[in-house]
Amino acid sequence: MGLEIHQQLDTSAKLFCDCRLELFKEEPEITFLRRLRPTQSELGQIDPAAYFEFQKGVKILYEANKATSCLVEMDEEPPHPLNMEAVETTLTAALMMNAKPVDEIHVMRKTVIDGSNTTGFQRTCVIALNGEVKVGRKIVPIQHVSLEEDAARKTGGEGNVIRYRIDRLGIPLIEVATAPVIKSPKEAEQVALAIGRVLRATGEVKRGLGTIRQDINISIPDGALIEIKGVQELEVLQLVVKYEVQRQLKLVKISEELRTRGVNEDDIQGNFIDVTHVFEQTQCKVLRKALDRKHQILAVKLPKFQGLLRRELLPSFRLGTEMSDRARFWGRVGGIFHTDELPAYGITKEEVGKLREIVAVDDIDAVVLVADNLENCKDALEAVVERAREAIKGVPQETRAPNPDGTTRYMRPRPGAARMYPETDIPPIQITEDYVRGISSRLPELLEQKFERFMKEYKLNQKLARQVLDSRHSELFESIVKETEVSPTTVAAFLTETLKALGRDGVEVEKVSESQIREIFNDVNSGELTKEAMPDVIVWLSSHENKGVQEAIKSLGLKTISGDELGSFVEKVIEDNRSLIEERGENSFGVLMGIIMKELRGRVDAALVSRVLRDKLKE
Ligand SMILES: [Zn+2]
Repeated sequence: MGLEIHQQLDTSAKLFCDCRLELFKEEPEITFLRRLRPTQSELGQIDPAAYFEFQKGVKILYEANKATSCLVEMDEEPPHPLNMEAVETTLTAALMMNAKPVDEIHVMRKTVIDGSNTTGFQRTCVIALNGEVKVGRKIVPIQHVSLEEDAARKTGGEGNVIRYRIDRLGIPLIEVATAPVIKSPKEAEQVALAIGRVLRATGEVKRGLGTIRQDINISIPDGALIEIKGVQELEVLQLVVKYEVQRQLKLVKISEELRTRGVNEDDIQGNFIDVTHVFEQTQCKVLRKALDRKHQILAVKLPKFQGLLRRELLPSFRLGTEMSDRARFWGRVGGIFHTDELPAYGITKEEVGKLREIVAVDDIDAVVLVADNLENCKDALEAVVERAREAIKGVPQETRAPNPDGTTRYMRPRPGAARMYPETDIPPIQITEDYVRGISSRLPELLEQKFERFMKEYKLNQKLARQVLDSRHSELFESIVKETEVSPTTVAAFLTETLKALGRDGVEVEKVSESQIREIFNDVNSGELTKEAMPDVIVWLSSHENKGVQEAIKSLGLKTISGDELGSFVEKVIEDNRSLIEERGENSFGVLMGIIMKELRGRVDAALVSRVLRDKLKE
């Protein structure tokens, strides 16, 4: 398999306009309705899936607000020149992977047919070619590093209308494509991780769910090239790969079996038979509902398919499910019924018997039926027949989308190869040797080098070093360690484990800014705040926006007390507990320590209290 990693950049503006890189949650300020019209490519071809959507009269309702989009995203104004900040970050990442920058950047249009781009295409440009990443001992070739615009995000849809929000449209994405050299699920994860680390080392990429997405191109011997789009979580990646291999193996087996049974593609004829009258008295709720709406029920024979439709390809996912997915996509029906699962769902044995009689099938044949209006029924069964023919050949090429459990579902046919053409609104950009040399001279440290350095320079253990690097605070860590005398291990543990634990307890840690965290450490350094009190300050700041660290310390009564104050407080406690001390002597230390710390926790260092108490007790 090969991977395509897509990572959002954290630039100050979008790729082709000056809009901010944010997503909005509120109601849209602007909406507009569009239809996509399929056009011929430069070579005179029309994408069949695009044409199909057009015929179905699909409309797209776009949602926008003024802060996150302008006329460029609406395709009412030509794109502005390419954002050079994004070019520079992409070049930086490319050079870190030893890729060779192109001489000239040419922005291209890649036909996209689902409405996720208002233009009907996605803009993309190759920035560098032929790089590599090291994964363990293996060198994984990088075919290209490109820069492209992110698409609008789907927010729902009703009937023939699909809703998209265009805030995400135009956010710069780096695309890194590996050669198809990956041979195991584990390796896929390691490669994704290695590339992700290079991208993060640039310091210019977004963080969080949805900001990095993996596409997988996967095939097995006798299988077919399947594209799985948009795996967001690394933990799911391995599962997706495992399941896809399993699915293809099972499909290959089914094809062998069909050939043994002596079925040819020509044997599967698209004779659709109206069987509505068979179900006039049916108890099946789905069919009843369809009949009440005056819909038809159509059936088709799949010769010698008996038993194969219930063959499981993935957990609770059968060949019948694949056909159902196709019927849903091309026929807009709710799903299909097939004889491998009948009688069930309220459909009786007698009804199945009559159905078999009318469709004239032997025991070895299967029947698929669908209920909807005539046109949808025909489209759905057409898709089922097509899928059945493909089952004889083996694995059909297609694009699939991941489910959260790692299984996948049919998304659309694989797009044709000739779907790129030049973006004539944007002039090519020369990449001079000087420009590349300048970027080469200030490449950031690779994460692996940083990891080694953190352990050596700051004496962090492996786990803490890794945690700091994986957190968003690795730069903050270094600056605090340089500014203060606080031990690097304390700083690292606080920035990773403590903040994480607070977050788990529901504290909105991300509301506390990096400069506030830095100030907290400076106060600890100067003795104005104890280490123990730091979490309290974070909790207070997270719930008091626009307030400062000093206000937190004051409000929480955490101001450390002076040596004199501590001395007289300890003397008072000794006075109050004179009889206890006379009774137990030095053994009263623990009890007294407890009394004092209960009162002064967070305002004084425990080691200091212990020293003062011992001295005073001796006195
Ligand atoms: Zn804009």
